[in-house]
Amino acid sequence: MSSQEALLEVQNLHTGFTIDGEMHHAVKDVSFDVAPGEVVCIVGESGCGKSVMSLSIMDLLPRHNGKIDKGQILFKGRDLASLTEDEMNNIRGKDISMIFQEPMTALNPVLTIGTQMDEVLINHTNNSKEEIRRKSISLLKQVGISRSDQIVNEYPHQLSGGMRQRVMIAMAIACQPQLLIADEPTTALDVTVQAQILELITKIQEEVGMAMMLITHDLGVVAEMADRVVVMYAGQVVEDTDVDRLFYEPKHPYTKALLDSIPRMEETREELNTIKGIVPSLKNMPQRGCRFVDRCPAAMPECSEVDPQLGEVEKGHAVRCILYDTSHPEKRAEV
Ligand code: SF4
Repeated sequence: MSSQEALLEVQNLHTGFTIDGEMHHAVKDVSFDVAPGEVVCIVGESGCGKSVMSLSIMDLLPRHNGKIDKGQILFKGRDLASLTEDEMNNIRGKDISMIFQEPMTALNPVLTIGTQMDEVLINHTNNSKEEIRRKSISLLKQVGISRSDQIVNEYPHQLSGGMRQRVMIAMAIACQPQLLIADEPTTALDVTVQAQILELITKIQEEVGMAMMLITHDLGVVAEMADRVVVMYAGQVVEDTDVDRLFYEPKHPYTKALLDSIPRMEETREELNTIKGIVPSLKNMPQRGCRFVDRCPAAMPECSEVDPQLGEVEKGHAVRCILYDTSHPEKRAEV
């Protein structure tokens, strides 16, 4: 979908979990690209497969029941899904790094901040111990942590949530990755700290020139940060377009419903718009037809019969809905 040559190409990705002996797909037939330096926001409600998709890219799925079942994850043309553990360890933290939702659980509580930061640089550089410690301190300064020469000797529980997230960002950019995956990086933080962290991520992303895949359910964050937006519903991409078209010319009924549910200053309604129902659980995913059918205000009888395919409605704008499927006899010009 991206017009530039892709840094990351996710192609027909299927990621599943074995539950009671049966494979259930949390990510089904997901395809999208991220170009160098581009910020792509992945949007959708909880349970839409956003995090599972990012864990698939990082090869961090739970080993006991999760696996990539089908598809490719091409990073600079190399399929990550086919790499050995050692090959993936060389890429993870160096070329691609990740910031998680909850920094308290992502940091090791029994190791100092310095030890954890040094480890990233020890794994990916040949610098001396002293050089590595100096670099760790300077990275903490870069993410706005004062007293960084003292903070390196402290433990995660001694820091505030915002400071812990800054440490996670410092670790993620330590090796100047080409791709940063940020999974709801501000969800666990206070609103004022959220704004500071997003500003910091944007500043660093521009300074380092890295691409970013930002997972969020906050459309305000999307408007602020995205170049392009991939909307996911129930494990599938339902719309993929640039940020302006997403807000001004949304096509998919789910995208429209998400946008309608944003409260607006000028509105005086007593009740907010909501999307009726919930995302189907893994075990209750419709086996055929559109996965949004039970909640879609535009649903037609054939929506339960035909599996809608993701197709371009115009250059750089793809939608998964039979209302826009030119190969389908029931296609309508516009809704
Ligand atoms: Fe709605 Fe049908 Fe389109 Fe699904 S395929 S989003 S149910 S109109």
